[in-house]
Amino acid sequence: MAFQLPQLPYEPQSLEPHIDTRTMEIHHGKHHAAYTNNLNAAIKDSPMDSMSIEELLAQLDLNNMPVRNNGGGYYNHNLFWTIMSPSGGGAPRGELAAAIDSSFGSFDAFKEKFSQAAMTRFGSGWAWLCVHKGGKLEICSTPNQDNPLMPGVGCGGTPVLGLDVWEHAYYLLYQNRRADYINGFFSVINWDEANKRFLANQ
Ligand code: MN
Repeated sequence: MAFQLPQLPYEPQSLEPHIDTRTMEIHHGKHHAAYTNNLNAAIKDSPMDSMSIEELLAQLDLNNMPVRNNGGGYYNHNLFWTIMSPSGGGAPRGELAAAIDSSFGSFDAFKEKFSQAAMTRFGSGWAWLCVHKGGKLEICSTPNQDNPLMPGVGCGGTPVLGLDVWEHAYYLLYQNRRADYINGFFSVINWDEANKRFLANQ
């Protein structure tokens, strides 16, 4: 059963001025679509064809580069659209807010550490906030389209937040200013969705 490109949960212009319309259109309609199509081609007629994307990534052989790159790209972008919202930003709420305070000291300390992970990822990749079974939070980053669900990437748990730091995610609006893009992301984080993901996977 082929994976489907999900619809954006909001209009592509609705994250302006933090994420621009053209970037959203190309990022979803071209990049995410290509990961989806290439993943489907890579798993055709294999046992992976009948797995969920989470199952597929959890049993992934990291030497299988087409599935690693495109399966990661498929999952990562599915997550990315949902953890942003036109009504997002501000401070975390609910149980996740308390967990962030107890894990990192404060929301500001969390923001600094997460931003540092996103800033120091050399080249293309992602920064993550993950939850482990038991509720422990972890900040980490991965190169390319790797993610914490893949075994052996040095980053574990289930993603609560993921930030795409590939240049295709920000270059049209921010050029080389990745720090400004990271700040823009914090203005659109969908904390309700992040809290749901935290509660469902702790
Ligand atoms: Mn991307």
